[in-house]
Amino acid sequence: MTQLPLRAQLATALGRTAATLSRVTGRGDGSVIGGRISLVLEPDLLRQLAHDRKLALVSATNGKTTTTRLITSALQELGDVATNAFGANMPAGHVSALSSAKNAPYGVLEVDEKYLPEVIDTTGAGVVVLMNLSRDQMDRAGEIWLLAQKWRRALAGKNTHVIANADDPLVTWGASTAASVTWVSAGQPWKEDSWCCPECGGPIDRRGMDYVPPGTAGSGMVLSPVDDDWACRECTFRRPRPSWALDDDAVIDPRGQRWVLDIQLPGRANRANAVIALATAEAFGLPIERALPRLRQVKSVAGRYTTVERDGRHARLLLAKNPAGWLEAFDVLDPSLPVILSVNAQGPDGRDTSWLWDVDYRVLRGRPVYVAGERKLDLALRLDVAGVPFQLADSFAQALAAQRPGKVDVIANYTAFQQIRSEFGRAV
Ligand SMILES: [Zn+2]
Repeated sequence: MTQLPLRAQLATALGRTAATLSRVTGRGDGSVIGGRISLVLEPDLLRQLAHDRKLALVSATNGKTTTTRLITSALQELGDVATNAFGANMPAGHVSALSSAKNAPYGVLEVDEKYLPEVIDTTGAGVVVLMNLSRDQMDRAGEIWLLAQKWRRALAGKNTHVIANADDPLVTWGASTAASVTWVSAGQPWKEDSWCCPECGGPIDRRGMDYVPPGTAGSGMVLSPVDDDWACRECTFRRPRPSWALDDDAVIDPRGQRWVLDIQLPGRANRANAVIALATAEAFGLPIERALPRLRQVKSVAGRYTTVERDGRHARLLLAKNPAGWLEAFDVLDPSLPVILSVNAQGPDGRDTSWLWDVDYRVLRGRPVYVAGERKLDLALRLDVAGVPFQLADSFAQALAAQRPGKVDVIANYTAFQQIRSEFGRAV
């Protein structure tokens, strides 16, 4: 690695001091404040820190933290990797991640969808990973189409290689101005945000999907997620042919060879993340037989899928930040266990909970359901309309205490999840 200019070295050192101070005074991991201070002192710092490294940027509405972790684990097979493991996914977090691993030849950075164009421009990353794009918190939904258009502009005319999910029409559109793309069939269980062609506004036809449209009985149930082919009825925009594919519990590589994934992270969404990670690893020259064993070592990511314990109750924590995330969490639930749902509506969650109406909760029928969180009444009304019996609890702690000793699953949105983690201390 070439030496950083003096000003950049100073900015990095002061940022790290600030991060350490923030940490020892109990104000979080300090990566954001440290990065911000560094950027004030040297606005060009991110570009300088990225220079000379092989970088992958990872962006999506759902799964970017997990996929960043999986790609990082794989690339550690090749050498040191700088990464923003705690989800500080804007430029200050990127500065912090790269400056705390100054000599790492590789970097894998989770990037907020809205910041992606800026971070592509600044870092000149060689690889960009795009997985899915759907509505997030309602009051920050903005226009996901506009977001995809900004991705297109950022990628056009650059030498970036993109790894993209061909099953998501909007991601496909967002990626298709890139110089080269590895298309991956990673599935798209949540389709409500992609019924229209992003190119012309025409209807998108899907084949091989037994899908019931919204507003009818059983809406949103995907019965056959295997063949995800799609095409616009009115223009030439259609699904590109993927070279990698998720096939149930296995991945099919570009040579047509099938590898059973056998990863520890649960659920279909994580198998999809793993396939994306394997395709990305290969773009870095790492073959699947060396990457896959690394992915199998990952057990939990930023507290997700870990278990907290109190008085013999073992609660497994699942995070669901938006409608697509709830579908993924349902897929992971153990049908034999009770489930506690906890929903807040603070800033990071979005203050509007109307998105709860987009989720089909009927899959929860037949198991004990407990509802907690600041907006438990909003969720209770939604469950009542869906015909899902439930019990209200004043708090998560009360809901947990109401369980018999043993296992219970928990689905919480962002701040509810963080509250549970901090109240119940270290996950076990
Ligand atoms: Zn079209």
